Amino acid sequence: MAARFLLPHNAGALENTGPYLPSKSATLPRAYVDCGARPRTRKLWRAEVSSTGIRRAAPLCSAAAAKRGEYDVVIVGAGIIGLTVARQFLIGSDLSVAVVDARVPCSGATGAGQGYIWMANKTPGSDTWELACRGKQLWEDLAESIRRQGMDPLRVLGWMKTGSLLIGRTSGELSMLQKRVKMLNEAGLKAEYLSASALASREPSLDIGPQTGAAFLPDDCQLDALRAVSFIEQGNRSFVPEGRYAEFFNDPAVCLVRSTENGEVEAVQTSQNILCGRRAVVIATGAWSGFLDRTFMNTEATLDVPVEPRKGHLLLLENLDGVRLNHGLMEVGYVDHQVSSRLPDSSSSRATAVEHNFSSISFTATTDHMGNLLLGSSRQFSGFDVEVDDAIIKRIWERAGEFLPTLREIPLNFSTEKQIRIGLRPYVPDGKPIIGPIPGIPKALFATGHEGGGLCMALSTAEMVVDMVLGNGGKIDHSPFSVRGRCCV
Ligand SMILES: Cc1cc2nc3c(=O)[nH]c(=O)nc-3n(C[C@H](O)[C@H](O)[C@H](O)COP(=O)(O)OP(=O)(O)OC[C@H]3O[C@@H](n4cnc5c(N)ncnc54)[C@H](O)[C@@H]3O)c2cc1C
Repeated sequence: MAARFLLPHNAGALENTGPYLPSKSATLPRAYVDCGARPRTRKLWRAEVSSTGIRRAAPLCSAAAAKRGEYDVVIVGAGIIGLTVARQFLIGSDLSVAVVDARVPCSGATGAGQGYIWMANKTPGSDTWELACRGKQLWEDLAESIRRQGMDPLRVLGWMKTGSLLIGRTSGELSMLQKRVKMLNEAGLKAEYLSASALASREPSLDIGPQTGAAFLPDDCQLDALRAVSFIEQGNRSFVPEGRYAEFFNDPAVCLVRSTENGEVEAVQTSQNILCGRRAVVIATGAWSGFLDRTFMNTEATLDVPVEPRKGHLLLLENLDGVRLNHGLMEVGYVDHQVSSRLPDSSSSRATAVEHNFSSISFTATTDHMGNLLLGSSRQFSGFDVEVDDAIIKRIWERAGEFLPTLREIPLNFSTEKQIRIGLRPYVPDGKPIIGPIPGIPKALFATGHEGGGLCMALSTAEMVVDMVLGNGGKIDHSPFSVRGRCCV
């Protein structure tokens, strides 16, 4: 038996649409870019960048020729963040919403996401803890409301409460897991420490020797990002007949239109439209957020939004006999994966890190709602490159084989049809998303920088953004995510 990979779900959608390339990095003057999941062939998109950094392949219309639309809120970016923010405005207010994307939903990081909604890798008391807890709670509520409407959340969202196992293989890791279980319990979560034998009986596909143990979180869940996005889009579109929702895809936003009187954002100019946002403009452009230049923001101020693309590969194996997991799996190293492989801070070392393809691998595995095995995951700084990196695939495969011995017997055949999901996580050096009003640009907000947790934190981010715009008291403290002091605008 050889490992067989499937084509990306959204490969077809990507073939005829060119990506948008913002400017910023001096190391990427004529970049090869892609918004995320890989096209069917290995052909790369080549983007021509003008002096303003705006890709001209989709010619800009003049402001006079542009079609004009009036909305209360305009959202730039139709990944999981932009779409869930739109949803929250639609269900939580009577405001009208337009969503604009350079390509199509799921062509960014979202389409590559593994879909775990796990607390096992989150740390109680950390800045993102409450946002993650609230995000998970809101997904659970949504799954429950789907169930109450007589539908199956598994079919609708790919939603499964599988529980997760955070696995240790050294005595140091095992004592860290025991402490972690205690900490999670104190924070009110169900968590249990499993010895090697208890772990083996819970997850028979694992074989990692006697010196093992795990933190087991029975309430951790997973979803399928593509299904979830499709459900959210469908819900958003149900507001079209009453004139409250519109989508503009394959239509990159090119700049904010601002009032000459008070500097407020009045509209978003796209390649074909001018979309007025009476109440707010929300920028949810994921990994591209750090590359929005002064021309885009329409400001003279120095601009530095510290979001970088962080490439991730996932392998998806269809109908793999012999490996069907009962739970989501993750090695202990995954908890520090984000922190330990951070980009160095100085800009010259950042360029060097990109040049040297600074990378790390950590084992994660889930069986999805279709019975496919998803293996992750890698983190790399390589600019906007989204080419398959065979060396990374090999490392993910070998790492997975250390935990799942059945895989060791399967030759990895690169010539077979395969699905390798690649996405660019929106990385922020301090490990927290950036959510809130942009200082100096009234009525504009960021909702970006969720790195490897955007699926988990999407609904809580959406709730936070809508509360901010409507002036409602927030459910959780939003100060750790503030733009002020973290982005220079
Ligand atoms: C391999 C991998 C596995 C992951 N697994 C998980 C997981 O299990 N759980 C989890 O919680 N998270 C996971 N993540 C992280 C999660 O996928 C991201 O945090 C999340 O998708 C980010 O969503 P987003 O909407 O901010 O960005 P994106 O999905 O990238 O969306 C941004 C959108 O903005 C658009 N855009 C950019 N510039 C412009 C412009 N000028 N005009 C208009 N549109 C523009 C892009 O086309 C894109 O569609 C994973 C990520 C990867 C890569």
